[in-house]
Formats: sequence, structure tokens, C-alpha cells
Amino acid sequence: MGLFTKDIATLDDLFVHTLQDIYYAENQITKALPKMIDKATDAQLRKGFETHLKETEGQIARLERVFEMHGSKAKAVTCPAIDGIIKEANELAGDIADKKVLDAALIAAAQAVEHYEITRYGTLIAWAKELGRADCASVLQETLDEEKATDDKLTKMAESKVNQKAEAATA
Ligand code: FE
Ligand code: FE
Ligand code: FE
Repeated sequence: MGLFTKDIATLDDLFVHTLQDIYYAENQITKALPKMIDKATDAQLRKGFETHLKETEGQIARLERVFEMHGSKAKAVTCPAIDGIIKEANELAGDIADKKVLDAALIAAAQAVEHYEITRYGTLIAWAKELGRADCASVLQETLDEEKATDDKLTKMAESKVNQKAEAATA
């Protein structure tokens, strides 16, 4: 978006802008996940991050497909929200000494990312349908389902063991 011009005139423009926003976010997530894999101690958590990294690569390909279906070029615009979520996670991780507490923090950070993605994909699907693009909506729905499943897996890991292990850690 320009500083002195308003580039977004229609709902369709807003749809494309938001596709560009989530395209940027997904690309940043593929850079952040390998660092989270390195920091995680719990084997299941590491495996979960590895699985989601592969899924994220597929999600980027799906977004490129949606851009193409829509007839626009795949392009990223900076998403300050995902940059902030990732920055906060990195800063917090740097302040945590205990590995088990760090695992709990990594799950919390990952869930903040998933929730951002869930809100963006939910909105994109609603706008695609409104714009008469059920075809784009159904591709985006595949990704939304993956993000929700990832969020659920993270909740289960946290509540079934990671939080307990963190709680047992003593300073
Ligand atoms: Fe994603
Ligand atoms: Fe954004
Ligand atoms: Fe995700």
C-alpha cells in the first residue's frame, strides 16, 4: 500500500491484499520453524514442528495456486503481525533457561502463529465465497483444516505432558 495513494478499492482488492499478507506470513513461518525445531526438546514436539514445516511448504504452493486461479501474480506484502509474533517468540525463548519451560513457551508461540493463520484463512474463505470464488475458497479451506488440526495437536501436547514437565522444573 502506498503512503499517499489508496490501492485497495474493492473487496476483491482486499482479498488479494490479504492473500499477499498470508503469503508473506507463511514464508516467514518456513524460516521460523527450523529454529523452533532446534530449540524444542520434547521428541513429539520436534516431530510436530517438522510435520508442520512440510505442511507449510504445501500451503505456500496452495496460495500460489489460488493467486493463479484468481489471475493475479503471487506476491508478498509485509505482515507486521506475523513479524511481531515471531519476534516475541524469539525474545522470550532467549530469556528461558530451562528446556522444559522452553518447550511450553514454544507451544504457546506456535499456537499464536496458528491462531493468526486461522483468522486470516477464515476471512479469506468468507471473502472468496462472497466474491463468487468457491473454487478459491475450497483450496483455502484445505489449509485452514491443517492449521486447525495443528492447533489442536499443540493443545493436546501441552495439556497432556509438556505443561506438567514445565511445572516440575525448578529454578
Ligand atoms: Fe500455515
Ligand atoms: Fe497480516
Ligand atoms: Fe500453521
